[in-house]
Amino acid sequence: MPECSLCGSVERVDYHDRQQAACAACGALERQRVLVRHLGDALVPGGSGRCLEIAPLNPFVFGGWLRARGWSYEAVDKRRLRESSDPGGFDLFINHDADLTDLRFARAAQFELLILQHVLEEVGDYRAALDELARVLEPGGRAILEIPFSDAVPATKHKRADRYGNRWTFGADLCADLRSRFAAVELQRLAEGPYTGQFFVCTGR
Ligand SMILES: [Zn+2]
Repeated sequence: MPECSLCGSVERVDYHDRQQAACAACGALERQRVLVRHLGDALVPGGSGRCLEIAPLNPFVFGGWLRARGWSYEAVDKRRLRESSDPGGFDLFINHDADLTDLRFARAAQFELLILQHVLEEVGDYRAALDELARVLEPGGRAILEIPFSDAVPATKHKRADRYGNRWTFGADLCADLRSRFAAVELQRLAEGPYTGQFFVCTGR
């Protein structure tokens, strides 16, 4: 078992129906481990040093990990949704109760780093959410957005929310949605074992 890129542990435990998916020590899943393994060295504050994560996993992933690297870290989630899956978790490490389409707690260009993984596909008006992410990202800052999509499908399709609350199947037009809002967009496919995540690294304009 490879070392967890966040904490170094080689122990894994099952996570829901996925065997040996979670780090036994820090809880990081494949998607958090590949982000740190492949993009982590570049996560060095160079501007305001402020980071906003949307719907983080736990107090360490990524809050504790990023604070240890000099970031001023805040997190946002929807209390009502969070409390149903993680009772009591919200007040432990999440600062803002807000919908991604309305980040009114944040001023324009407030954050140098945004992290969002597997959230956009749950948001009804995902284009409004992208508008907000672009608004609060400082010029030259980075938004790391992990969004499942298929470039073989031209157009994004709405679907009935599945058991994860996912309501969009993103197609190739997602790339245009991102490019119209950020100065640069780079797609990286990051893998660990059977898992592959699609990470858009977007630069603020
Ligand atoms: Zn770990």
